[in-house]
Amino acid sequence: MLRSVILAAARSTRVERLVETAPVSRSIVRRFIAGEHADDALQRTRELVADGLCATLDHLGEDTTNPHQAEATRDAYLKLLDALHAAELTPAAEVSLKLSALGQVFDEKVAYEHARAICAKASECGTTVTLDAEDHTTTDSTLEVLARLRGEFPTTGAVLQAYLRRTEADCRELAVAGSRVRLCKGAYKEPESVAYQTRLDVDKSYVRCLNVLMAGGGYPMLATHDPRLIGIGEDRAKWYERTPDEFEFQMLYGVRPEEQLRLARLGYTVRVYMPYGTQWYGYMMRRLAERPANVGFLARALRSRV
Ligand SMILES: Cc1cc2nc3c(=O)[nH]c(=O)nc-3n(C[C@H](O)[C@H](O)[C@H](O)COP(=O)(O)OP(=O)(O)OC[C@H]3O[C@@H](n4cnc5c(N)ncnc54)[C@H](O)[C@@H]3O)c2cc1C
Repeated sequence: MLRSVILAAARSTRVERLVETAPVSRSIVRRFIAGEHADDALQRTRELVADGLCATLDHLGEDTTNPHQAEATRDAYLKLLDALHAAELTPAAEVSLKLSALGQVFDEKVAYEHARAICAKASECGTTVTLDAEDHTTTDSTLEVLARLRGEFPTTGAVLQAYLRRTEADCRELAVAGSRVRLCKGAYKEPESVAYQTRLDVDKSYVRCLNVLMAGGGYPMLATHDPRLIGIGEDRAKWYERTPDEFEFQMLYGVRPEEQLRLARLGYTVRVYMPYGTQWYGYMMRRLAERPANVGFLARALRSRV
């Protein structure tokens, strides 16, 4: 219930204005977001890599309806990739992008062209791109764009959300040689017709999908902080005789940092998803919705404004 209210607020421009200007927002933004500028993200990436971690960088922004903004997002990624390459941070660092930030909302072809330019630059810089998963109305379009991009840039990664009923079948399609698939639980508010609603059902689906990916020929990227699922991931890797370079764990910047280091010390590849930029509202609200203990922050932010 609380999760639904926060995720609904994530789409409200009125609440957005209140939260963005509340003084208490600053500390929570610092926890989950690397900074406003590419230089901040670069510095945090250096620190992660020095600690034996890998990174995937996200230039914040989503649901763009303005073609100029979509172009600006593309250009920000092109510059970021050049900077990562110049700093010798590729291939440890790759990028994650949201097609809705590149124009998917108004023209899928525009989003594809921008994503293609970013994939070409990533390839030139010796690294890869992963397409984030957004709400279920975009899944077909995102997977279609992915298939086209993979024709030219086969290492382009997909993200599949275990809460969607369709995902086990999508895992079967994508568990093929050369395919990189990030499996996460899913962060949006979705109707019962398309998504499992209870934690137990989502977790059970995650394990079924994990089995399919681990048994298949692709490269599974297990994006979760859930200790039970991490343990099952380790177990399945042994079961399917996957060596540590044949799958990876992924976690969000600011969430369970000690666990990230613990897994890296065990010899696993651990990639940290690191967002940066000024458009942090939607991303941060999804992080708050994931953890009821974070909600006190939102209440304080709103109380200080209304
Ligand atoms: C690398 C990565 C990429 C992702 N990409 C996408 C994507 O493209 N599309 C999408 O829909 N979702 C994405 N997600 C989010 C994902 O769908 C989940 O919403 C999120 O990871 C929480 O689920 P969990 O598996 O960690 O399990 P949970 O059961 O939610 O969490 C397990 C434990 O982790 C800790 N934890 C989890 N989240 C938080 C938090 N926000 N703050 C503090 N502690 C927390 C808590 O200790 C919690 O008990 C991504 C997640 C990761 C790690």
